[in-house]
Amino acid sequence: MRPVRFNIHPKEANINNSISVTEAPDGYSGEGFFTAKLSDVVGLARKNSIWPLPFATSCCGIEFMATAAAHYDLGRFGAERMAFTPRQCDLLMVMGTIAKKMGPVLRQVYLQMAEPRWVLSVGACASSGGIFDTYSVLQGIDQIIPVDVYVPGCPPRPEAILDGFMKIQDLVGQESIRRRNSEQYKTLLASYGIQ
Ligand code: SF4
Repeated sequence: MRPVRFNIHPKEANINNSISVTEAPDGYSGEGFFTAKLSDVVGLARKNSIWPLPFATSCCGIEFMATAAAHYDLGRFGAERMAFTPRQCDLLMVMGTIAKKMGPVLRQVYLQMAEPRWVLSVGACASSGGIFDTYSVLQGIDQIIPVDVYVPGCPPRPEAILDGFMKIQDLVGQESIRRRNSEQYKTLLASYGIQ
């Protein structure tokens, strides 16, 4: 049977396929019981079962393909279940040049995702327009949707994409289950014209 492995960084993975179990959240334990904050437990489950939606439009998408393939193996993070159905995904990964004409499509995909949702902007083009400082290219996807983590590079290597993904995991794991109902979050969405 294939050994179960969770959340092992390439640097930590060893060639013996040893089993590594993710750390339990802070809490109280005794004989036969363990208690913890609901937010921590939900965060632990969410961060290790992220379902990405790859919105890949150009070269950065190729780096993402390498990230998902056997050598870098995004599946080690519980994120191998990729889909192009926004309602089933909770992480929008934007990788590549986004033309202004494509902006409404990207925004619609974001709007179709259910809460809680996160956004990872991969590479210079998605984050700032990159080298394409032209009339036709969106100068950063954060002009139309909120972004949680930016990955620099043109293109970023798979290690950088994994690093960005792990930063998303940190955010997901630490997020309060009440954050999406907070006034601060509603204000953020309102600044993008999203109700
Ligand atoms: S950041 Fe560089 S590698 Fe990525 S899509 Fe833009 S031009 Fe291509």
